[in-house]
Amino acid sequence: MPEWEELLKESITNSERLARNCNVVEKQEIREVIRRYPLCINKYYFNLIKEKNDPIWNQCIPHINEITDKHGLVDPLHEEEDSPVPGLTHRYPDRVLLLVSNRCAMYCRFCTRKRRVGDPFKAIFKEQTMKGIDYIREHKEVRDVVLSGGDPLLLKDERIEFILKELRKIEHVEIIRIGTKVPCTLPQRITPELCQIISKYHPVFVNVHFNHPRELTEESKNALKMLVDAGIPVGNQTVLLRDVNDNKEVMKELTYGLMKTGVYPYYIYQADLTKGTDHFRTKVKDSLEIINNLRMFEADLPTPYYIIDAPGGGGKIPLIPDYEKTNENQEIVKIKSDEDIQKLKNKDVQVIILKSDIDDLTKIAEVRALNKEAILVINSKIISENPEKITQEACVELKKNTPLFINTCFNRADQINETTEKAIAMMKDNGLVLCNNTTVYKGENDNPIVIRELMHKLLKLRIKPSYIAFDSNGNSVKTKTRNCMKLIKSLRGFTSGLAVPHFAIENNGEKVIVGPNYVIDQDSDKIILQNYAGKIYEYPEPILDESCNGNLDLINTSASKETEIAEKQQATAKIGGS
Ligand SMILES: *Cc1c(COP(=O)(O)O)cnc(C)c1O
Ligand code: SF4
Repeated sequence: MPEWEELLKESITNSERLARNCNVVEKQEIREVIRRYPLCINKYYFNLIKEKNDPIWNQCIPHINEITDKHGLVDPLHEEEDSPVPGLTHRYPDRVLLLVSNRCAMYCRFCTRKRRVGDPFKAIFKEQTMKGIDYIREHKEVRDVVLSGGDPLLLKDERIEFILKELRKIEHVEIIRIGTKVPCTLPQRITPELCQIISKYHPVFVNVHFNHPRELTEESKNALKMLVDAGIPVGNQTVLLRDVNDNKEVMKELTYGLMKTGVYPYYIYQADLTKGTDHFRTKVKDSLEIINNLRMFEADLPTPYYIIDAPGGGGKIPLIPDYEKTNENQEIVKIKSDEDIQKLKNKDVQVIILKSDIDDLTKIAEVRALNKEAILVINSKIISENPEKITQEACVELKKNTPLFINTCFNRADQINETTEKAIAMMKDNGLVLCNNTTVYKGENDNPIVIRELMHKLLKLRIKPSYIAFDSNGNSVKTKTRNCMKLIKSLRGFTSGLAVPHFAIENNGEKVIVGPNYVIDQDSDKIILQNYAGKIYEYPEPILDESCNGNLDLINTSASKETEIAEKQQATAKIGGS
Protein backbone atom coordinates (compact mmCIF):
# COMPACT_ATOMS: atom_id res chain seq x y z
CA MET A 1 0.00 0.00 0.00
CA PRO A 2 1.41 3.46 -0.89
CA GLU A 3 2.39 5.73 1.99
CA TRP A 4 -0.54 8.08 1.45
CA GLU A 5 -3.06 5.27 1.69
CA GLU A 6 -1.46 4.06 4.92
CA LEU A 7 -1.66 7.57 6.35
CA LEU A 8 -5.31 7.83 5.35
CA LYS A 9 -6.14 4.50 6.87
CA GLU A 10 -4.78 5.64 10.23
CA SER A 11 -6.82 8.85 10.21
CA ILE A 12 -8.60 10.08 13.30
CA THR A 13 -12.30 9.66 12.57
CA ASN A 14 -14.05 9.42 15.95
CA SER A 15 -14.12 11.26 19.24
CA GLU A 16 -12.45 8.45 21.25
CA ARG A 17 -9.49 8.41 18.94
CA LEU A 18 -9.35 12.20 18.94
CA ALA A 19 -9.43 12.28 22.76
CA ARG A 20 -6.59 9.77 22.91
CA ASN A 21 -4.49 11.95 20.64
CA CYS A 22 -5.14 15.38 22.04
CA ASN A 23 -6.56 17.15 24.96
CA VAL A 24 -10.22 17.67 24.08
CA VAL A 25 -12.40 17.97 27.14
CA GLU A 26 -15.64 18.42 25.22
CA LYS A 27 -15.81 14.79 24.12
CA GLN A 28 -19.60 14.58 24.26
CA GLU A 29 -19.99 17.81 22.29
CA ILE A 30 -17.57 16.62 19.68
CA ARG A 31 -19.43 13.37 19.32
CA GLU A 32 -22.59 15.31 18.56
CA VAL A 33 -20.87 17.49 15.98
CA ILE A 34 -19.39 14.48 14.24
CA ARG A 35 -22.78 12.83 14.01
CA ARG A 36 -23.79 15.68 11.70
CA TYR A 37 -20.48 16.54 10.06
CA PRO A 38 -17.89 13.77 9.79
CA LEU A 39 -14.42 13.98 11.27
CA CYS A 40 -11.28 12.93 9.44
CA ILE A 41 -7.76 14.11 10.14
CA ASN A 42 -4.87 12.13 8.78
CA LYS A 43 -1.75 11.83 10.91
CA TYR A 44 0.37 14.06 8.72
CA TYR A 45 -1.98 17.02 9.04
CA PHE A 46 -2.74 16.26 12.67
CA ASN A 47 0.94 16.51 13.51
CA LEU A 48 1.03 20.11 12.29
CA ILE A 49 -1.00 21.13 15.34
CA LYS A 50 1.19 22.73 17.96
CA GLU A 51 -1.39 23.75 20.53
CA LYS A 52 -5.07 24.01 21.23
CA ASN A 53 -6.92 26.57 19.07
CA ASP A 54 -3.95 27.29 16.86
CA PRO A 55 -4.62 27.94 13.13
CA ILE A 56 -4.23 24.26 12.26
CA TRP A 57 -6.40 23.06 15.14
CA ASN A 58 -9.17 25.50 14.26
CA GLN A 59 -9.34 24.20 10.70
CA CYS A 60 -9.67 20.52 11.57
CA ILE A 61 -10.96 19.94 15.12
CA PRO A 62 -14.79 19.95 15.44
CA HIS A 63 -16.38 22.79 17.41
CA ILE A 64 -19.79 22.95 19.05
CA ASN A 65 -20.59 26.12 17.09
CA GLU A 66 -20.98 23.95 14.00
CA ILE A 67 -24.26 22.58 15.29
CA THR A 68 -25.49 25.58 17.26
CA ASP A 69 -25.09 27.95 14.30
CA LYS A 70 -28.46 29.53 13.59
CA HIS A 71 -27.32 31.42 10.51
CA GLY A 72 -26.14 30.02 7.29
CA LEU A 73 -27.54 27.96 4.46
CA VAL A 74 -27.09 24.28 3.70
CA ASP A 75 -26.19 24.92 0.05
CA PRO A 76 -25.27 28.61 -0.02
CA LEU A 77 -24.09 28.62 -3.63
CA HIS A 78 -27.10 26.72 -5.01
CA GLU A 79 -24.83 24.09 -6.45
CA GLU A 80 -27.56 21.45 -6.35
CA GLU A 81 -30.07 23.77 -8.01
CA ASP A 82 -27.80 24.68 -10.92
CA SER A 83 -27.12 21.00 -11.50
CA PRO A 84 -28.43 19.43 -14.73
CA VAL A 85 -26.99 16.02 -13.80
CA PRO A 86 -25.99 14.95 -10.28
CA GLY A 87 -22.54 16.15 -9.29
CA LEU A 88 -22.23 18.63 -12.15
CA THR A 89 -22.85 22.37 -11.81
CA HIS A 90 -23.22 24.43 -14.98
CA ARG A 91 -23.48 28.01 -13.84
CA TYR A 92 -21.29 29.94 -16.25
CA PRO A 93 -21.62 29.74 -20.02
CA ASP A 94 -18.31 28.11 -20.93
CA ARG A 95 -17.37 25.93 -17.99
CA VAL A 96 -18.64 23.33 -15.58
CA LEU A 97 -17.80 22.08 -12.14
CA LEU A 98 -17.72 18.30 -11.92
CA LEU A 99 -17.60 16.62 -8.52
CA VAL A 100 -15.77 13.33 -8.89
CA SER A 101 -15.16 12.32 -5.26
CA ASN A 102 -16.70 13.17 -1.92
CA ARG A 103 -13.76 12.18 0.24
CA CYS A 104 -10.99 14.42 1.52
CA ALA A 105 -7.73 13.78 3.35
CA MET A 106 -9.02 16.04 6.12
CA TYR A 107 -12.50 17.46 6.62
CA CYS A 108 -12.16 21.20 6.93
CA ARG A 109 -14.62 22.41 9.51
CA PHE A 110 -15.40 25.49 7.36
CA CYS A 111 -16.12 23.54 4.16
CA THR A 112 -18.75 24.99 1.81
CA ARG A 113 -19.77 21.46 0.84
CA LYS A 114 -20.17 20.36 4.44
CA ARG A 115 -23.58 19.06 3.40
CA ARG A 116 -22.08 16.25 1.38
CA VAL A 117 -18.35 15.64 1.88
CA GLY A 118 -17.47 12.55 3.84
CA ASP A 119 -21.05 11.24 3.88
CA PRO A 120 -20.85 7.60 2.75
CA PHE A 121 -24.43 7.85 1.45
CA LYS A 122 -23.38 10.62 -0.88
CA ALA A 123 -20.33 8.87 -2.33
CA ILE A 124 -19.73 9.42 -6.04
CA PHE A 125 -19.50 6.35 -8.26
CA LYS A 126 -18.09 5.92 -11.71
CA GLU A 127 -21.56 5.83 -13.31
CA GLN A 128 -22.32 9.31 -12.06
CA THR A 129 -19.00 10.68 -13.29
CA MET A 130 -19.67 9.07 -16.69
CA LYS A 131 -23.04 10.87 -16.86
CA GLY A 132 -21.25 14.14 -16.11
CA ILE A 133 -18.76 13.48 -18.89
CA ASP A 134 -21.64 12.64 -21.27
CA TYR A 135 -23.21 15.99 -20.43
CA ILE A 136 -19.95 17.77 -21.23
CA ARG A 137 -19.68 15.90 -24.53
CA GLU A 138 -23.16 17.03 -25.50
CA HIS A 139 -22.54 20.67 -24.58
CA LYS A 140 -20.17 22.15 -27.10
CA GLU A 141 -20.00 25.48 -25.29
CA VAL A 142 -18.04 23.90 -22.41
CA ARG A 143 -14.37 24.66 -22.94
CA ASP A 144 -13.16 24.40 -19.35
CA VAL A 145 -13.87 21.58 -16.88
CA VAL A 146 -13.17 22.01 -13.17
CA LEU A 147 -12.80 18.69 -11.34
CA SER A 148 -13.56 19.01 -7.68
CA GLY A 149 -15.18 17.15 -4.82
CA GLY A 150 -14.28 16.29 -2.08
CA ASP A 151 -10.83 15.77 -3.43
CA PRO A 152 -10.31 14.38 -6.95
CA LEU A 153 -6.77 13.33 -6.04
CA LEU A 154 -8.01 10.90 -3.41
CA LEU A 155 -9.17 8.73 -6.27
CA LYS A 156 -6.80 6.02 -7.38
CA ASP A 157 -4.36 6.81 -10.19
CA GLU A 158 -6.27 4.62 -12.66
CA ARG A 159 -9.52 6.44 -12.04
CA ILE A 160 -7.89 9.86 -12.37
CA GLU A 161 -6.30 8.82 -15.62
CA PHE A 162 -9.61 7.43 -16.87
CA ILE A 163 -11.40 10.74 -16.22
CA LEU A 164 -8.66 12.82 -17.83
CA LYS A 165 -8.53 10.53 -20.83
CA GLU A 166 -12.29 10.63 -21.36
CA LEU A 167 -12.32 14.42 -21.11
CA ARG A 168 -9.43 14.77 -23.53
CA LYS A 169 -11.39 12.79 -26.13
CA ILE A 170 -13.85 15.68 -26.24
CA GLU A 171 -12.59 18.17 -28.75
CA HIS A 172 -14.29 21.28 -27.38
CA VAL A 173 -12.76 20.82 -23.90
CA GLU A 174 -9.75 23.13 -23.99
CA ILE A 175 -8.53 23.15 -20.42
CA ILE A 176 -9.02 20.83 -17.47
CA ARG A 177 -8.60 21.99 -13.91
CA ILE A 178 -8.19 19.93 -10.77
CA GLY A 179 -9.13 21.51 -7.46
CA THR A 180 -7.31 19.65 -4.70
CA LYS A 181 -6.24 20.08 -1.14
CA VAL A 182 -3.92 17.07 -0.88
CA PRO A 183 -0.70 19.05 -1.50
CA CYS A 184 -1.60 20.78 1.77
CA THR A 185 -3.28 18.06 3.80
CA LEU A 186 -1.63 14.89 2.49
CA PRO A 187 1.36 15.84 0.32
CA GLN A 188 2.49 12.21 0.18
CA ARG A 189 -0.32 11.72 -2.35
CA ILE A 190 1.65 13.68 -4.96
CA THR A 191 3.81 10.94 -6.42
CA PRO A 192 5.97 10.88 -9.55
CA GLU A 193 3.47 8.45 -11.09
CA LEU A 194 0.55 10.82 -10.49
CA CYS A 195 2.47 13.78 -11.95
CA GLN A 196 3.29 11.73 -15.00
CA ILE A 197 -0.36 10.83 -15.52
CA ILE A 198 -1.54 14.43 -15.24
CA SER A 199 1.13 15.73 -17.59
CA LYS A 200 -0.04 13.40 -20.36
CA TYR A 201 -3.28 15.37 -20.67
CA HIS A 202 -2.07 18.96 -20.78
CA PRO A 203 -3.23 21.68 -20.51
CA VAL A 204 -4.21 20.67 -16.98
CA PHE A 205 -4.22 23.36 -14.30
CA VAL A 206 -4.14 22.46 -10.63
CA ASN A 207 -5.65 24.69 -7.96
CA VAL A 208 -4.47 23.98 -4.45
CA HIS A 209 -5.87 25.26 -1.18
CA PHE A 210 -3.47 26.53 1.50
CA ASN A 211 -4.70 28.73 4.32
CA HIS A 212 -1.72 29.22 6.60
CA PRO A 213 2.09 29.44 6.21
CA ARG A 214 2.46 26.66 8.78
CA GLU A 215 0.99 24.33 6.16
CA LEU A 216 4.08 24.99 4.03
CA THR A 217 6.26 22.16 5.29
CA GLU A 218 9.16 20.43 3.54
CA GLU A 219 6.71 17.73 2.44
CA SER A 220 4.10 20.10 1.04
CA LYS A 221 6.64 22.33 -0.67
CA ASN A 222 8.11 19.25 -2.26
CA ALA A 223 4.67 18.15 -3.50
CA LEU A 224 4.06 21.58 -5.03
CA LYS A 225 7.44 21.57 -6.73
CA MET A 226 6.72 18.17 -8.22
CA LEU A 227 3.51 19.48 -9.75
CA VAL A 228 5.21 22.61 -11.08
CA ASP A 229 8.08 20.55 -12.49
CA ALA A 230 5.54 18.41 -14.35
CA GLY A 231 4.65 21.54 -16.35
CA ILE A 232 1.39 22.11 -14.50
CA PRO A 233 0.38 25.71 -13.79
CA VAL A 234 -0.40 25.61 -10.06
CA GLY A 235 -2.57 28.29 -8.48
CA ASN A 236 -3.66 28.67 -4.89
CA GLN A 237 -7.03 29.47 -3.41
CA THR A 238 -7.31 30.61 0.19
CA VAL A 239 -10.39 31.17 2.30
CA LEU A 240 -10.12 34.00 4.79
CA LEU A 241 -10.99 32.50 8.15
CA ARG A 242 -11.35 34.12 11.52
CA ASP A 243 -8.69 32.97 13.99
CA VAL A 244 -6.85 31.14 11.23
CA ASN A 245 -5.50 33.63 8.70
CA ASP A 246 -7.38 36.92 9.16
CA ASN A 247 -4.10 38.72 9.51
CA LYS A 248 -2.02 40.78 7.09
CA GLU A 249 1.37 39.35 7.97
CA VAL A 250 0.14 35.76 7.92
CA MET A 251 -1.40 36.17 4.48
CA LYS A 252 1.69 37.86 3.11
CA GLU A 253 3.95 35.14 4.44
CA LEU A 254 1.67 32.51 2.93
CA THR A 255 1.57 34.21 -0.47
CA TYR A 256 5.34 34.68 -0.74
CA GLY A 257 5.89 31.17 0.59
CA LEU A 258 3.70 29.70 -2.14
CA MET A 259 5.30 31.80 -4.86
CA LYS A 260 8.71 30.55 -3.83
CA THR A 261 7.56 27.08 -4.84
CA GLY A 262 6.25 28.40 -8.17
CA VAL A 263 2.57 28.69 -7.17
CA TYR A 264 0.66 31.84 -8.17
CA PRO A 265 -2.08 33.21 -5.91
CA TYR A 266 -5.42 32.81 -7.72
CA TYR A 267 -8.41 33.51 -5.51
CA ILE A 268 -8.81 34.66 -1.93
CA TYR A 269 -12.35 33.95 -0.83
CA GLN A 270 -14.59 35.59 1.64
CA ALA A 271 -16.04 32.66 3.66
CA ASP A 272 -19.41 31.46 2.34
CA LEU A 273 -22.65 31.56 4.33
CA THR A 274 -22.53 27.81 4.90
CA LYS A 275 -24.54 26.52 7.82
CA GLY A 276 -22.24 25.46 10.64
CA THR A 277 -19.39 27.78 9.69
CA ASP A 278 -20.53 31.19 10.88
CA HIS A 279 -17.82 31.35 13.53
CA PHE A 280 -15.21 31.38 10.77
CA ARG A 281 -16.49 34.41 8.90
CA THR A 282 -14.60 37.70 8.76
CA LYS A 283 -15.87 41.19 8.00
CA VAL A 284 -15.55 42.31 4.38
CA LYS A 285 -13.81 45.52 5.43
CA ASP A 286 -11.16 43.55 7.34
CA SER A 287 -10.71 41.18 4.41
CA LEU A 288 -10.16 44.10 2.05
CA GLU A 289 -7.40 45.41 4.28
CA ILE A 290 -5.63 42.08 4.12
CA ILE A 291 -5.95 42.07 0.32
CA ASN A 292 -4.69 45.64 0.12
CA ASN A 293 -1.52 44.52 1.84
CA LEU A 294 -0.82 41.85 -0.82
CA ARG A 295 0.57 44.18 -3.44
CA MET A 296 1.92 41.65 -5.89
CA PHE A 297 1.40 44.04 -8.82
CA GLU A 298 4.21 46.20 -7.46
CA ALA A 299 6.46 43.23 -8.14
CA ASP A 300 5.02 42.40 -11.60
CA LEU A 301 3.72 39.15 -10.05
CA PRO A 302 0.14 37.88 -10.29
CA THR A 303 -2.22 39.58 -7.85
CA PRO A 304 -4.95 37.38 -6.36
CA TYR A 305 -8.59 38.28 -6.91
CA TYR A 306 -10.60 38.68 -3.70
CA ILE A 307 -13.94 36.98 -4.26
CA ILE A 308 -17.34 36.84 -2.65
CA ASP A 309 -19.22 33.85 -4.03
CA ALA A 310 -22.74 35.29 -4.12
CA PRO A 311 -25.17 33.48 -1.83
CA GLY A 312 -27.97 32.08 -3.96
CA GLY A 313 -25.84 31.06 -6.92
CA GLY A 314 -24.87 34.40 -8.42
CA GLY A 315 -21.33 33.20 -8.88
CA LYS A 316 -18.00 34.72 -7.99
CA ILE A 317 -17.87 38.47 -7.61
CA PRO A 318 -14.49 40.22 -7.27
CA LEU A 319 -13.92 43.16 -4.93
CA ILE A 320 -10.92 45.36 -5.50
CA PRO A 321 -9.57 47.48 -2.63
CA ASP A 322 -8.54 51.07 -3.13
CA TYR A 323 -4.91 50.35 -3.71
CA GLU A 324 -3.49 53.68 -2.66
CA LYS A 325 0.09 54.42 -3.41
CA THR A 326 2.42 53.48 -0.57
CA ASN A 327 5.98 54.35 0.25
CA GLU A 328 8.63 52.41 -1.55
CA ASN A 329 8.19 48.73 -0.84
CA GLN A 330 11.43 47.45 0.68
CA GLU A 331 10.58 43.86 -0.17
CA ILE A 332 10.94 44.53 -3.88
CA VAL A 333 14.13 45.49 -5.71
CA LYS A 334 14.03 46.59 -9.31
CA ILE A 335 17.40 46.25 -10.92
CA LYS A 336 17.91 49.29 -13.06
CA SER A 337 21.65 49.76 -12.66
CA ASP A 338 24.64 47.99 -11.14
CA GLU A 339 24.23 49.96 -7.92
CA ASP A 340 20.90 48.26 -7.28
CA ILE A 341 22.75 44.97 -7.05
CA GLN A 342 24.07 46.02 -3.63
CA LYS A 343 20.52 46.05 -2.25
CA LEU A 344 20.06 42.36 -3.00
CA LYS A 345 21.88 41.19 0.08
CA ASN A 346 19.26 42.81 2.31
CA LYS A 347 17.41 40.09 4.19
CA ASP A 348 13.97 41.69 3.68
CA VAL A 349 14.14 41.41 -0.10
CA GLN A 350 11.44 39.02 -1.33
CA VAL A 351 11.30 39.86 -5.02
CA ILE A 352 13.94 40.93 -7.51
CA ILE A 353 12.82 42.30 -10.87
CA LEU A 354 15.57 41.90 -13.41
CA LYS A 355 16.31 44.14 -16.33
CA SER A 356 17.80 41.29 -18.35
CA ASP A 357 15.80 39.07 -20.64
CA ILE A 358 15.91 35.27 -20.35
CA ASP A 359 18.91 34.94 -22.69
CA ASP A 360 21.24 36.74 -20.29
CA LEU A 361 21.95 33.62 -18.28
CA THR A 362 25.17 34.99 -16.78
CA LYS A 363 23.47 38.03 -15.32
CA ILE A 364 20.58 35.96 -13.96
CA ALA A 365 22.97 33.53 -12.27
CA GLU A 366 24.97 36.43 -10.84
CA VAL A 367 21.87 37.94 -9.22
CA ARG A 368 20.77 34.54 -7.96
CA ALA A 369 24.17 34.00 -6.33
CA LEU A 370 23.71 37.22 -4.34
CA ASN A 371 20.29 36.26 -3.05
CA LYS A 372 19.34 32.61 -2.95
CA GLU A 373 15.82 32.99 -1.55
CA ALA A 374 14.08 35.83 -3.35
CA ILE A 375 11.67 35.38 -6.25
CA LEU A 376 13.23 36.51 -9.52
CA VAL A 377 10.96 38.17 -12.07
CA ILE A 378 11.87 38.52 -15.73
CA ASN A 379 9.77 40.48 -18.19
CA SER A 380 10.63 38.78 -21.45
CA LYS A 381 10.28 40.00 -25.01
CA ILE A 382 12.26 37.12 -26.47
CA ILE A 383 9.43 34.62 -26.11
CA SER A 384 7.12 36.66 -28.34
CA GLU A 385 9.79 38.13 -30.65
CA ASN A 386 12.55 35.52 -31.00
CA PRO A 387 11.16 32.20 -29.83
CA GLU A 388 13.71 30.32 -31.95
CA LYS A 389 16.37 31.43 -29.44
CA ILE A 390 14.82 29.25 -26.74
CA THR A 391 16.60 25.92 -26.44
CA GLN A 392 16.32 22.93 -24.15
CA GLU A 393 19.72 23.82 -22.59
CA ALA A 394 18.58 27.38 -21.90
CA CYS A 395 15.43 26.08 -20.20
CA VAL A 396 17.48 23.80 -17.95
CA GLU A 397 19.77 26.70 -17.02
CA LEU A 398 16.82 28.99 -16.32
CA LYS A 399 15.18 26.39 -14.11
CA LYS A 400 18.29 26.38 -11.90
CA ASN A 401 17.41 29.94 -10.87
CA THR A 402 14.11 28.95 -9.24
CA PRO A 403 12.06 30.62 -7.72
CA LEU A 404 11.57 32.42 -11.00
CA PHE A 405 8.50 33.95 -12.65
CA ILE A 406 8.75 34.78 -16.33
CA ASN A 407 6.30 37.28 -17.82
CA THR A 408 5.57 37.01 -21.52
CA CYS A 409 4.06 40.02 -23.30
CA PHE A 410 1.60 38.78 -25.90
CA ASN A 411 -0.98 41.27 -27.16
CA ARG A 412 -2.79 39.22 -29.78
CA ALA A 413 -3.34 35.51 -30.42
CA ASP A 414 -1.97 35.82 -33.96
CA GLN A 415 1.47 36.68 -32.54
CA ILE A 416 1.68 33.02 -31.59
CA ASN A 417 2.80 30.64 -34.30
CA GLU A 418 4.08 27.08 -34.27
CA THR A 419 7.61 28.08 -33.27
CA THR A 420 6.28 30.11 -30.36
CA GLU A 421 4.06 27.24 -29.26
CA LYS A 422 6.96 24.81 -29.32
CA ALA A 423 9.20 27.16 -27.35
CA ILE A 424 6.52 27.70 -24.73
CA ALA A 425 5.76 23.98 -24.42
CA MET A 426 9.48 23.36 -23.89
CA MET A 427 9.65 26.00 -21.17
CA LYS A 428 6.58 24.59 -19.42
CA ASP A 429 7.78 21.00 -19.66
CA ASN A 430 10.95 22.15 -17.92
CA GLY A 431 8.86 23.41 -15.04
CA LEU A 432 9.17 27.13 -15.74
CA VAL A 433 6.41 29.43 -14.50
CA LEU A 434 4.91 31.69 -17.18
CA CYS A 435 2.49 34.60 -16.77
CA ASN A 436 1.48 37.18 -19.35
CA ASN A 437 1.14 40.95 -19.41
CA THR A 438 -0.80 42.46 -22.30
CA THR A 439 -0.69 46.03 -23.55
CA VAL A 440 -3.86 47.32 -25.16
CA TYR A 441 -3.48 49.48 -28.27
CA LYS A 442 -6.29 51.40 -29.85
CA GLY A 443 -7.55 49.81 -33.03
CA GLU A 444 -5.30 46.81 -32.56
CA ASN A 445 -6.55 44.77 -29.62
CA ASP A 446 -8.93 47.06 -27.71
CA ASN A 447 -11.73 44.67 -28.51
CA PRO A 448 -13.36 41.97 -26.35
CA ILE A 449 -13.21 39.34 -29.09
CA VAL A 450 -9.51 39.84 -29.74
CA ILE A 451 -8.70 39.89 -26.03
CA ARG A 452 -10.75 36.80 -25.26
CA GLU A 453 -9.15 34.89 -28.13
CA LEU A 454 -5.73 35.81 -26.74
CA MET A 455 -6.61 34.81 -23.18
CA HIS A 456 -7.93 31.42 -24.29
CA LYS A 457 -4.84 30.84 -26.38
CA LEU A 458 -2.61 31.66 -23.41
CA LEU A 459 -4.46 29.19 -21.20
CA LYS A 460 -4.08 26.47 -23.81
CA LEU A 461 -0.34 27.17 -23.70
CA ARG A 462 -0.41 26.96 -19.88
CA ILE A 463 0.36 30.66 -19.40
CA LYS A 464 -1.50 32.51 -16.66
CA PRO A 465 -2.75 35.95 -17.82
CA SER A 466 -1.69 38.46 -15.17
CA TYR A 467 -2.29 42.03 -16.29
CA ILE A 468 -3.58 44.17 -19.08
CA ALA A 469 -2.54 47.79 -19.33
CA PHE A 470 -3.18 50.43 -21.96
CA ASP A 471 -0.35 51.91 -23.95
CA SER A 472 1.08 55.11 -22.59
CA ASN A 473 0.37 57.31 -25.64
CA GLY A 474 -2.73 58.62 -27.31
CA ASN A 475 -6.17 58.94 -25.76
CA SER A 476 -7.00 60.54 -22.45
CA VAL A 477 -6.52 58.44 -19.34
CA LYS A 478 -10.25 58.52 -18.75
CA THR A 479 -11.15 57.06 -22.14
CA LYS A 480 -8.50 54.39 -21.81
CA THR A 481 -9.62 53.42 -18.33
CA ARG A 482 -13.21 53.19 -19.46
CA ASN A 483 -12.25 51.00 -22.41
CA CYS A 484 -10.11 48.68 -20.33
CA MET A 485 -12.85 48.33 -17.70
CA LYS A 486 -15.20 47.30 -20.49
CA LEU A 487 -12.71 44.67 -21.62
CA ILE A 488 -12.43 43.19 -18.13
CA LYS A 489 -16.21 43.25 -17.70
CA SER A 490 -16.61 41.38 -20.95
CA LEU A 491 -14.46 38.57 -19.56
CA ARG A 492 -15.54 38.22 -15.94
CA GLY A 493 -18.12 35.47 -15.60
CA PHE A 494 -18.27 34.74 -19.31
CA THR A 495 -15.00 32.85 -19.36
CA SER A 496 -12.62 31.10 -16.95
CA GLY A 497 -11.62 33.22 -13.99
CA LEU A 498 -8.11 32.15 -15.00
CA ALA A 499 -8.53 34.14 -18.20
CA VAL A 500 -9.35 37.40 -16.43
CA PRO A 501 -6.24 39.53 -15.92
CA HIS A 502 -6.08 42.49 -13.60
CA PHE A 503 -6.21 45.92 -15.16
CA ALA A 504 -3.08 47.87 -14.34
CA ILE A 505 -2.54 51.58 -14.75
CA GLU A 506 1.06 52.60 -15.04
CA ASN A 507 2.19 55.97 -13.90
CA ASN A 508 5.88 56.94 -13.87
CA GLY A 509 6.83 53.27 -13.84
CA GLU A 510 4.53 52.54 -10.88
CA LYS A 511 1.70 50.10 -11.36
CA VAL A 512 -1.69 50.43 -9.68
CA ILE A 513 -4.64 48.08 -10.02
CA VAL A 514 -8.19 49.16 -10.64
CA GLY A 515 -11.20 47.12 -11.64
CA PRO A 516 -14.88 47.31 -12.45
CA ASN A 517 -17.01 48.06 -9.43
CA TYR A 518 -19.52 45.34 -8.58
CA VAL A 519 -20.46 46.83 -5.20
CA ILE A 520 -23.85 48.53 -5.30
CA ASP A 521 -24.10 49.43 -1.63
CA GLN A 522 -22.47 48.61 1.66
CA ASP A 523 -23.25 49.23 5.30
CA SER A 524 -22.14 47.72 8.58
CA ASP A 525 -24.28 44.61 8.32
CA LYS A 526 -24.43 43.80 4.64
CA ILE A 527 -22.98 44.38 1.23
CA ILE A 528 -25.04 44.53 -1.97
CA LEU A 529 -23.33 43.19 -5.05
CA GLN A 530 -24.01 42.88 -8.73
CA ASN A 531 -22.85 39.76 -10.51
CA TYR A 532 -21.36 39.57 -14.01
CA ALA A 533 -24.82 39.22 -15.54
CA GLY A 534 -26.17 42.28 -13.71
CA LYS A 535 -28.21 40.44 -11.06
CA ILE A 536 -28.22 41.77 -7.51
CA TYR A 537 -27.14 39.73 -4.47
CA GLU A 538 -26.68 40.41 -0.79
CA TYR A 539 -23.91 39.15 1.47
CA PRO A 540 -24.69 39.68 5.16
CA GLU A 541 -21.72 40.47 7.38
CA PRO A 542 -21.04 38.11 10.28
CA ILE A 543 -22.22 38.98 13.76
CA LEU A 544 -18.90 38.69 15.47
CA ASP A 545 -19.34 38.11 19.17
CA GLU A 546 -20.33 34.45 19.30
CA SER A 547 -19.72 33.92 22.97
CA CYS A 548 -22.74 36.02 24.00
CA ASN A 549 -26.15 34.45 24.36
CA GLY A 550 -28.87 37.10 24.33
CA ASN A 551 -29.17 39.70 21.62
CA LEU A 552 -29.01 42.49 24.12
CA ASP A 553 -25.69 41.24 25.40
CA LEU A 554 -24.42 41.06 21.90
CA ILE A 555 -25.30 44.62 21.04
CA ASN A 556 -23.83 45.88 24.29
CA THR A 557 -20.57 44.09 23.83
CA SER A 558 -20.04 45.18 20.28
CA ALA A 559 -21.06 48.71 21.18
CA SER A 560 -18.63 48.83 24.07
CA LYS A 561 -15.96 47.37 21.84
CA GLU A 562 -16.57 50.07 19.30
CA THR A 563 -16.37 52.77 21.97
CA GLU A 564 -13.11 51.25 23.13
CA ILE A 565 -11.69 51.36 19.60
CA ALA A 566 -12.97 54.89 19.05
CA GLU A 567 -11.35 55.98 22.30
CA LYS A 568 -8.08 54.39 21.30
CA GLN A 569 -8.20 56.12 17.92
CA GLN A 570 -8.87 59.45 19.57
CA ALA A 571 -5.96 58.91 21.89
CA THR A 572 -3.68 58.16 18.97
CA ALA A 573 -4.97 61.15 17.07
CA LYS A 574 -4.18 63.35 20.06
CA ILE A 575 -0.68 62.02 20.35
CA GLY A 576 -0.21 62.46 16.61
CA GLY A 577 -1.51 66.03 16.78
CA SER A 578 0.55 67.29 19.67
C1 LIG B 1 -15.74 28.47 -9.04
C2 LIG B 1 -16.57 27.83 -10.01
C3 LIG B 1 -16.13 27.66 -11.34
C4 LIG B 1 -14.78 28.14 -11.79
O1 LIG B 1 -14.71 29.55 -11.69
P1 LIG B 1 -13.47 30.38 -12.23
O2 LIG B 1 -13.79 31.79 -11.87
O3 LIG B 1 -13.41 30.15 -13.70
O4 LIG B 1 -12.26 29.86 -11.54
C5 LIG B 1 -16.98 27.06 -12.23
N1 LIG B 1 -18.21 26.64 -11.86
C6 LIG B 1 -18.67 26.81 -10.60
C7 LIG B 1 -20.04 26.35 -10.26
C8 LIG B 1 -17.87 27.40 -9.64
O5 LIG B 1 -18.31 27.56 -8.40
S1 SF4 C 1 -10.62 19.73 1.26
FE1 SF4 C 1 -12.09 21.10 0.24
S2 SF4 C 1 -13.90 19.84 -0.12
FE2 SF4 C 1 -12.64 18.76 1.38
S3 SF4 C 1 -13.40 19.40 3.38
FE3 SF4 C 1 -11.73 20.79 2.85
S4 SF4 C 1 -12.71 22.55 1.86
FE4 SF4 C 1 -14.20 20.83 1.84
